Amino acid sequence: MDLIHGGDCMKRIFAAVLGLALLTSIVPATAASKAQNEWATTHKIVYVGLTPKDQPNFWTENETDTTTATSDGAMLAFAKETVANTIAFWKQNSRGKMKFATSKFFIGKAGTATERCDSSADVKAAMKIAGLKSVPIGTHIVVVNVYDTCGYAGLGAFGGNSVNLRSFGTTTLIHELGHNFGYYHSSAMYCKNSDFKKFNATNCSVDEYGDFRDLMGNDEWCPDTTLSATQRATIFHTPLAKSVKIGAELTLDVSNMSTDRIIYEFGYKGNWYFFEYYVPSVNRCMSFSSILYAPQIQVRMIGPAWTVAKGNSVGPILIVRSDSDLPTSVVNVDPEMLPRDLTLTGFLEGESFQLPGAPYTLTVKSTGSTSAVFTLAKN
Ligand SMILES: [Zn+2]
Repeated sequence: MDLIHGGDCMKRIFAAVLGLALLTSIVPATAASKAQNEWATTHKIVYVGLTPKDQPNFWTENETDTTTATSDGAMLAFAKETVANTIAFWKQNSRGKMKFATSKFFIGKAGTATERCDSSADVKAAMKIAGLKSVPIGTHIVVVNVYDTCGYAGLGAFGGNSVNLRSFGTTTLIHELGHNFGYYHSSAMYCKNSDFKKFNATNCSVDEYGDFRDLMGNDEWCPDTTLSATQRATIFHTPLAKSVKIGAELTLDVSNMSTDRIIYEFGYKGNWYFFEYYVPSVNRCMSFSSILYAPQIQVRMIGPAWTVAKGNSVGPILIVRSDSDLPTSVVNVDPEMLPRDLTLTGFLEGESFQLPGAPYTLTVKSTGSTSAVFTLAKN
């Protein structure tokens, strides 16, 4: 299985290689995918910048303004900053569980960045430049080829140990490393007329990168970026998802992001439902004009099988509705406001919602500044 896929999301295109075809010649696939998720593994980024023949000083050239000049050169200094930002992101999002050794940087000589679409040849070239015959467990070869012609911004291997970058900003590096660590895409789901009672592949569709919440979906990096609690709970188990007690009033408390009371989970016939509280403008750095910014309980799903069949790398799926499908009593917070067409990424205070594919109803009892109360009851 060697599926390369891409998808437009905001300004960039991501791609991920599913399966481990890229790795098989380097390390045993199972060993690599397991070790990338073990907290005992110390991760290390070996960053290799390939250099175009016609721009021999691509990485080392400086701005003419000497006040901003660095001994590394502008591009290499920028690359080092993206790596520092990326490590800070993954440390923070694993709540310190992930450990990183000091990163290494190498620059290939002019002519190493060739116009081609051959990720494994670029990784091999990078290993040679870095003096590596094999890639130790936990090491991630990050190779930048600004002349890569594949059409993606970056390429990560699921559970793998290499990342190919064409665009080498922080956002892409964090995202592609996320695939190496075992993350799928933060997705979203729409059903016709926002009717989740008709929950099937013909009435509903999955937008593979549709979750605006984090970089495994379609957000952009900034120093406060985080992952959805669902993503963190499913990969890092930090927070640990608490089990829903049917019929009980449950409190989601986001005042302290390191507690486990920020996510609940509920399993029904092979589907998993995750509940987290989202207060807009907290831990956010990018705004989408099409999203209703109101405190809300978000529901993410894993399963059923047809949701995954629609995309190659679909992870937790955010349930999304359109306000035009709903009564104004539910969504029109300000009666003076003109009709809008906004996307609702969660459920507002007072709303009830029957879980797609399960005879249980979510009711949002209250939404406060840092905590929300909800119940899940059998129909
Ligand atoms: Zn991706």
